[in-house]
Amino acid sequence: MSDTPRKPRFPASLAALSPAASAGKPQATLRPQRHLAEAAADARRQVQPSGIGLDGAGVRQRMVARLRLEGINCEPVLKAMSEVPRHRFVDSALAIQAYEDTSLPIGLGQTISKPSVVARMLEWLFLGERAKASGHLGHVLEIGTGCGYQTAVLATMSRKIVSIERLQALHQQAQQHLDQQQVRGVHLLWGDGMQGHAALGPYDSIISAAGGEDIPQAWLQQLAVGGRLVAPARASDGRGQVLVVVDRLVDGWRRISGEAVQFVPLKSGTD
Ligand code: SAH
Repeated sequence: MSDTPRKPRFPASLAALSPAASAGKPQATLRPQRHLAEAAADARRQVQPSGIGLDGAGVRQRMVARLRLEGINCEPVLKAMSEVPRHRFVDSALAIQAYEDTSLPIGLGQTISKPSVVARMLEWLFLGERAKASGHLGHVLEIGTGCGYQTAVLATMSRKIVSIERLQALHQQAQQHLDQQQVRGVHLLWGDGMQGHAALGPYDSIISAAGGEDIPQAWLQQLAVGGRLVAPARASDGRGQVLVVVDRLVDGWRRISGEAVQFVPLKSGTD
């Protein structure tokens, strides 16, 4: 068995991996026709929600319906995103925008990723060998806890999560958000996620919300055989960032680069 990362053996594309391509998935459960029609209308008129209601359930269903229209069809991801109150993880002044497909500031120059990007990344994680076989993401390492929104979504589809944030103020805020929402099974750490967290590894799924020059070796080493990693990294032509999917095989790693993205930088050290 070699520990050296290998170049991909197949010129595969992420489109080929998309669950949209896999047939036989169940459809929406909650009055799908109405939500799809409203979501399509939202999309045509550039969504200006007039209010989010008491708990945001209605506007959240419409966000999920728009995600379906965009081709997300991984049921556990859609179910989680229909349940987790995104507006509770951002500043109350921004709550009205929480269900638009937009990234939002969470303080200290950081942003929460837009819902369609969160959904796409989680969907790709679900297509990893282990997740496909078990129906959940298993033991998860998340780098870049931020406000804790994605952590809360992950918690509904994982056995256990280790989530690392380098900014102490955000780490503490995320802990508060997750406590308020009574999210269980999450171990938050304040530290440099570039090192991963070997003590609690290996991980079935690794996901990063910050992008560096390349995928850190520590993450590759801490990924279990059969596990999958999804993270942004610099494009091979040096221009901008792309999403990268890495599968750990018995005898190495298979890496595939996908669509262009814009994530906050992966920085070393803590603040
Ligand atoms: N998923 C988050 C998105 C946060 S933005 C959410 O739902 O809010 C990405 C986060 O990655 C930022 O908070 C940033 O501080 C953090 N980050 C950047 N480099 C890091 C590192 N080396 N280790 C841990 N966190 C890091």
